[in-house]
Amino acid sequence: LSTQGGDSKEENIFVIVRIRPLSKKEIAHKDTVTWTCVDDRTISYNSSSQECSSSPSSYTFDKVFGPTSQTDIVYEQGTKAVALSALAGINATIFAYGQTSSGKTYTLRGIIESSVCDIYKHIQNSPERIFTIKISALEIYNETVRDLLKPNSAPLRLLDDPEKGTVIEKLEEETAKDSQHLKYLIAFCDAQRQVGETSMNDASSRSHQIIRLTVESRLLEASDCLKSCAACLNFVDLAGSERTFQTNAESVRLKEGCYINRSLLALTSVIRKLSMGKGGGHIPYRDSKLTRILQISLGGNARTAIICTMSPALTHVEQSRNTLSFATRAK
Ligand code: ADP
Ligand code: MG
Repeated sequence: LSTQGGDSKEENIFVIVRIRPLSKKEIAHKDTVTWTCVDDRTISYNSSSQECSSSPSSYTFDKVFGPTSQTDIVYEQGTKAVALSALAGINATIFAYGQTSSGKTYTLRGIIESSVCDIYKHIQNSPERIFTIKISALEIYNETVRDLLKPNSAPLRLLDDPEKGTVIEKLEEETAKDSQHLKYLIAFCDAQRQVGETSMNDASSRSHQIIRLTVESRLLEASDCLKSCAACLNFVDLAGSERTFQTNAESVRLKEGCYINRSLLALTSVIRKLSMGKGGGHIPYRDSKLTRILQISLGGNARTAIICTMSPALTHVEQSRNTLSFATRAK
């Protein structure tokens, strides 16, 4: 099992930035590309474009990918090691963070597909172990949790279990029979989100989706539970980040009734504290549903990859800067 990528980092947060190609719309508006990958870890701002000169001209992360990089390369070099650590019993989470239409869903879908493929390859190559893969999926919209495997069910409640921590009451969990079945279940959950997308006026850009795979395995020969291991692998497609920053600024002026994406704000501070290590102090997991649900997969012996996606266009430079500062704080 390869454990490359993020290994040298004590906190195990691996930060990746991916710049997508210009969209058709951006090309039609004669928008220009304002970012260049200098090497595989650094992106720089094209200084010929007009912008405030006090902003940094380059940023360095664990890995950066430019517009011509394919998703399988992003997976291979950026997130594979994190995803596969779940096979070794280590909880893992892969986030996609960025403004709406920057490529979060596009990137995460490809990464889920490659992860599933590699998980089943590993199972095939490990005849000495018996594996069970389970899936659950949920969406958090306005701090309401919805089961994506049971679309018409009532909102789910979070409960505090003295041993397990936060548990999601009545969350459906299905055991995948094989990789085809798992892919079918993932596609099913994806389709539930798309229903929301058309009926709730862009709700998808304000909601977080989590697909959680639980990987359990035990040695064929041994029946004692010491030889068994279990871990979660979470894929998190976050709400569009434009709203955190905008509401942050506006909330000073607009008092009541202003919409704040509580979960995204809470995640931002949790990630920041985690990346500061022991000096970070109290980690505010309890501030939102998203951070409560992910708590066991983020703190302690867990691995995290954050893929920050951005548009290369000049029009979006402010949002891209915001994404890059989030990414910088997460390092
Ligand atoms: P988000 O989930 O962040 O709102 P999407 O993943 O839906 O954004 O991407 C917006 C559009 O850009 C989609 O049409 C998607 O197919 C396209 N896109 C995103 N990233 C890439 C990429 N790296 N290469 C090619 N097309 C991309
Ligand atoms: Mg999306």
